[in-house]
Amino acid sequence: MLTYNINETDSDIDYCGYGVLPMAIQPAITALIGKLPEKSLKLINVKADRYHSFEMPLAEDICINDDQPHWWNYFLCGLKGVMEQLKLETWPSEEGLACLIDGNIPPASGLSSSSALVITGALATLSIVKKLDDKANDRFALAALCAESEKYIGTQGGGMDQAIELLAQPGCAQSIEFNPLRNQNVPLPQGATFVIANSLAESNKAAGSEFNHRVVECRLASVLLAKSLNLAQWAELKRLKDLQTTADKSLPDMIELVQQYLHTKPYSKPELSELLEMSVEHLEKLYLTKNTKDLTEFKLNQRANHVFSEAFRVAEYQRICCQSGQEEKEASSTTLAALGQLMFESHWSCANNYQCSHPKLDQLVELSKQGGALGARLTGAGWGGCIVALVHESKTDQYINFLQANYYQNLPDAKGQLSSTYLFCTEPGPGASVFTV
Ligand code: ADP
Ligand code: MG
Repeated sequence: MLTYNINETDSDIDYCGYGVLPMAIQPAITALIGKLPEKSLKLINVKADRYHSFEMPLAEDICINDDQPHWWNYFLCGLKGVMEQLKLETWPSEEGLACLIDGNIPPASGLSSSSALVITGALATLSIVKKLDDKANDRFALAALCAESEKYIGTQGGGMDQAIELLAQPGCAQSIEFNPLRNQNVPLPQGATFVIANSLAESNKAAGSEFNHRVVECRLASVLLAKSLNLAQWAELKRLKDLQTTADKSLPDMIELVQQYLHTKPYSKPELSELLEMSVEHLEKLYLTKNTKDLTEFKLNQRANHVFSEAFRVAEYQRICCQSGQEEKEASSTTLAALGQLMFESHWSCANNYQCSHPKLDQLVELSKQGGALGARLTGAGWGGCIVALVHESKTDQYINFLQANYYQNLPDAKGQLSSTYLFCTEPGPGASVFTV
């Protein structure tokens, strides 16, 4: 069984309800699955030095400790999600599950290795508890299930990563919309290549509070704006997309409303409690998470500004790709320049409004400009990990050599690694695939 992985645009806006435009990439988590004669789960990782083996009886409750994001917990998220979906209180088989796992998705690097592992857990479980017929399987339901169950790890992510891994089609990106989940093939421009460059700074999203901090800042921005606009049910409008739909405004209008109603100074909890007319305890219960309830500062203006402008850029990117795809010839330099510009703008907003970049990512994006890329931005949630750059096909080797000489040459972390593991071109891959022998 193979689960491939993704991603091209932004996972910061999926949890706000906005559509995204990812593609599956070629690196993958690979799992070999077999049955055990007794009711137990055995996970063995080929990279045993980093990822220790794990074993548990399947007779007991699946308990996922979100204080410690051990690697096997991601697999358990998928397993637990499937059991819940099938309304199984106990493991339904007399046989257990053994899984040998390997992968070449750089971990904790914004390429959604976590969701690849969650999906591996879900598909492996399905192969035992329900005879797996991949074609008949409803991949939409599975994507929604995996998005929900990855939250057991403690991060309150959206559904982009799981959706693209399960809905990808080779050769194109996917426009993915949520609530309800739906997708559409989007052709990518001919004549340009996507290059992934790993900064080699890792960031595990479940180990820190930054990821959920942004999630709750967006929730608070949404309800505070909704209240300022006197919308009914404002306290429930926790997603910025739901707010926009209820307010019946365009994205540029929403950006103006942010400037009108939200100040740029960070909000404190007492201030929010007063503005939202609810106790601090109530506010924590409604909008904060276990690992964000002790935070004291919330930058609502900047976060909402990023989300609305990013949603606008994603829609623009898709419009340009679809338009250029209809022409069935190499995209014009104006088209490629427009796409690249959107990627640079996106990175700027991630770094300055969302503050989810990392000095090494900023350095890579800056070097990308100097090295001839049309555009570049961080991938996934940020805080470390990779950038994705759009490069003219004829200039790809030149760009890769430039980054090699100016970024990786003197980086001790890069020594001893094959350069193809941290700097590579990728075609849109097919996403999760199951092979039965
Ligand atoms: P991302 O999804 O951006 O790669 P996350 O912080 O969400 O980063 O998840 C990274 C975690 O996923 C790693 O810390 C590790 O626990 C797990 N993981 C990723 N790849 C593997 C692998 N090949 N084997 C085991 N665990 C992995
Ligand atoms: Mg992840």
